[in-house]
Amino acid sequence: MADSEHVDLDEFIAGVKRRNPGQPEFVQAVTEVAQDIFEFIADKEEYHRWQILRRISEPDRVVSFRVCWEDDNHNIRVQRGFRIQNNNAIGPYKGGIRFHPSVNESILKFLAFEQTFKNALTGLPMGGGKGGATFNPKGKSDGEIMRFCQSFMTELFRHIGANIDVPAGDIGVGAREIGYMFGQYKRITNSFEGVLTGKGLEYGGSLIRPEATGYGAVYFLENMLRTRGQGLEGKSAAISGSGNVATHAAEKINQLGGKVLTLSDSEGFIHDPDGITQEKIDWVKSHKTRRRGRISDYVDEYKGATFHRGERPWGVTCDVALPCATQNELLGADARLLVANGCIAVSEGANMPTDLDGVHVFKEARILYAPGKASNAGGVAVSGLEMSQNSARLSWKEAELQQLLKDIMAGIHTRCLEYGQQGDGYIDYVKGANIAGFKKVADAMLAFGVV
Ligand code: NDP
Repeated sequence: MADSEHVDLDEFIAGVKRRNPGQPEFVQAVTEVAQDIFEFIADKEEYHRWQILRRISEPDRVVSFRVCWEDDNHNIRVQRGFRIQNNNAIGPYKGGIRFHPSVNESILKFLAFEQTFKNALTGLPMGGGKGGATFNPKGKSDGEIMRFCQSFMTELFRHIGANIDVPAGDIGVGAREIGYMFGQYKRITNSFEGVLTGKGLEYGGSLIRPEATGYGAVYFLENMLRTRGQGLEGKSAAISGSGNVATHAAEKINQLGGKVLTLSDSEGFIHDPDGITQEKIDWVKSHKTRRRGRISDYVDEYKGATFHRGERPWGVTCDVALPCATQNELLGADARLLVANGCIAVSEGANMPTDLDGVHVFKEARILYAPGKASNAGGVAVSGLEMSQNSARLSWKEAELQQLLKDIMAGIHTRCLEYGQQGDGYIDYVKGANIAGFKKVADAMLAFGVV
């Protein structure tokens, strides 16, 4: 009889903490998933016997490396790069690369762990991974960004490949950075292959990849609202962030008849009671990406709006909320405020933006709440479609991809219902996503034996 049969949830979490000292984000992510999985596997002998949960919460591989580069003033700079290859039971490792000074092993391990379940939920054959570096792209020249990306890829290239591990973008890594990294990979290996997704359209990228995460989070929200006979028409939305995910979520909310009231960045949030229309979103996109500006400048451009320095947007009265900036940006107190002000649905565009206390508040209040691993899977899903197009050496049409994205989000919603529907009619999307994602990966692991 395996020891794990005698381990209860508290002992399991204590073990995760002991084995991963100083890694609170990773412990938080595993704790959230383990709570649901323990219940699910209580009467399923083989998952215990083969220690599946214990194995799934230990990354296949953690690669850490030095990245040195020269800045414009000829100073030699040294950063740390990482690639976490979490689990490839159902396909090549797949997950974004983050460039941000806060990057560390704990954050990337939590992201790679979550990614494993998210990718399984899409129904596409992708394992879970994540990578990044402690590099801060803010304020860097184009030349500095290029030299950093090239140096980063000069080490990363030996760990990735179209059938091994296929990274994409994340915070601080957009089309420009993917271009520099792809160019360096191609130069070093002399191989043109689909080794990265989020590429430019000229060299193998997919239509709607930039829009996919934000649009997908809104499609998921629509699916949730439909279970209560509602739609987005006339609904007000609070959104955090002003990057790729946030601006595209805002765009889709507008297209479906909603009104976006807020956006934010790491300095604070803007509140525009007149609504952040498509024209205003276009201004934000261009201001933040091309001019590398701050969201606070919005109030000089659009007079009815106010900027709230150092604050998050969750105190603004809204019908629906989409946290689209970063992890742990919506805490218990914020969740209580949203619920008290009448918010009926939360769809996470970011990864783990709500802390465990906040998740508890949403569940207790019985509002519609979608965890990022379900609601923000649209991005990686279209990345999966980019991989298929690269393998087939084809480019699919936009209308076809838009429909596939909608169908994939609806499919994830259905998978969440399978395990998340409660006796009283309430849908626990966290539980649904955790169990459906776990089951697919776990069953593949069972097939492989002990590896
Ligand atoms: P971007 O770099 O395009 O934008 C990130 C946004 O979040 C910026 O507005 C940034 O503000 C803000 N932000 C970053 N750190 C903080 C912080 N500590 N506090 C407050 N605001 C912060 O990234 P993405 O839009 O691509 O990613 C956003 C989230 O979505 C992340 O959690 C990412 O993991 C997740 N995600 C992204 C996917 C994608 O396809 N891009 C796919 C699935 C999930 P500032 O400019 O001040 O830094």
